Amino acid sequence: MKTGKLIWIECLCGYQLFRYFKAGKGRIIKCFIGRLSEDRVGLAGRATHSKPRCPNCGKELGIIMIIRGEPALKLNQGTIKNIIV
Ligand SMILES: [Zn+2]
Repeated sequence: MKTGKLIWIECLCGYQLFRYFKAGKGRIIKCFIGRLSEDRVGLAGRATHSKPRCPNCGKELGIIMIIRGEPALKLNQGTIKNIIV
């Protein structure tokens, strides 16, 4: 595994959604489901194209897509706090 770090992904309302292993630097556009932990949203096992919501404020967090054969959450940039690693 490449170097990286485990960071909290937060909704704009301040709710901590899940932790994600971010490899490398830069803005987070998508999160591979297999790389997240402390999943407070219940992202694992969601159907492709479903739109999970923040359990606290109900806003859509993004959309589940298959990227390079792996399920991932493509983040809704208007809902997720912009985290730059
Ligand atoms: Zn929220």
